[in-house]
Amino acid sequence: MTTVRDILASGTRTFSFEFFPPKSEAGERTLWQAIRRLEPLSPTFVSVTYGAGGSSRDRTVEMTKRIATQTTLRPVAHLTAVGHSVAELRRIIGQYADAGVRDVLALRGDPPGDPNAPWVPHPDGLTHAHELVTLVRGLGDFGIGVAAFPEKHPRSPDWDTDIRHLVAKCRAGADYAITQMFFDVEDYLRLRDRVAAAGCDTPIIPEIMPATDVRQIRRFAELSGARFPAELAHRLEAAKDDRAEGHRVGVAHATAMAARLLDEGAPGLHYITLNKSLAALDIHRNVLSSRSLRVS
Ligand code: FAD
Repeated sequence: MTTVRDILASGTRTFSFEFFPPKSEAGERTLWQAIRRLEPLSPTFVSVTYGAGGSSRDRTVEMTKRIATQTTLRPVAHLTAVGHSVAELRRIIGQYADAGVRDVLALRGDPPGDPNAPWVPHPDGLTHAHELVTLVRGLGDFGIGVAAFPEKHPRSPDWDTDIRHLVAKCRAGADYAITQMFFDVEDYLRLRDRVAAAGCDTPIIPEIMPATDVRQIRRFAELSGARFPAELAHRLEAAKDDRAEGHRVGVAHATAMAARLLDEGAPGLHYITLNKSLAALDIHRNVLSSRSLRVS
């Protein structure tokens, strides 16, 4: 069974969509509509983020298993070390394997409630993502992805430290990285240059966030630490009471970013969908119409 690793190794550019675990039955229906709308595009993979705790985590696992068993899509399972013992992590990875999931995005995660609070590992758990990469690697022939940060992880004291830790995840067995959202292509290119200068050629897939709603994007940017360009903020602000115009502005910005990233040799595009497919679909269609993406 092929993994994202195999597809990237074949030189095929990937494109993928990210969802989050829905909180309600209505949310679940919306999500499945989005999944079914995206399915005919045959994306390389889709992924479901790992919830901060409790029932949302169970929903992540259930959604990911359902995608593996009830759709034609390849799911990448997000997994974090937050609040889990190693035994629990092993059990979850086993559940994924049982459902035929062969790809894992191995993450440290953030403290639940306040992502900026001090990180406290589970007493029988893991402290950093590279340890989760090692654990997953030891449990089967999974394709493994990790997180990368075009504007540096907020907790990293400097760029050298940040890159050293990213490279450590790759050396531990990660096959590729997916970035945090960003809005300036130069940030991605500088990250890629820094990783290459550290002697690491692991593919780094850029994450594309359609910025169509200024309030929502400001909140996400604050949470993730991503810089939101003043010019884009200004245009979205002007469109804040006009959904169609906000959609047009956000899709145009993301399309331009995506096209430039591919021109610069990015190995793929990972679209955030917010469980709706429209903006991501429009961006992807625009990108497809301007070039021929080889689709796995
Ligand atoms: P790490 O690689 O462990 O890094 C965390 C911090 O520790 C960094 O500052 C790093 O430099 C430092 N560090 C790493 N190794 C060491 C070491 N050996 N010694 C000292 N310091 C070290 N969160 C979720 O809760 N669920 C999700 O589904 C989810 N999906 C994500 C998907 C993507 C594509 C991205 C980019 C992020 C995602 N996140 C998710 C957020 C992520 O969990 C947080 O950003 C978290 O703070 C960092 O996770 P990491 O895997 O990069 O951790």
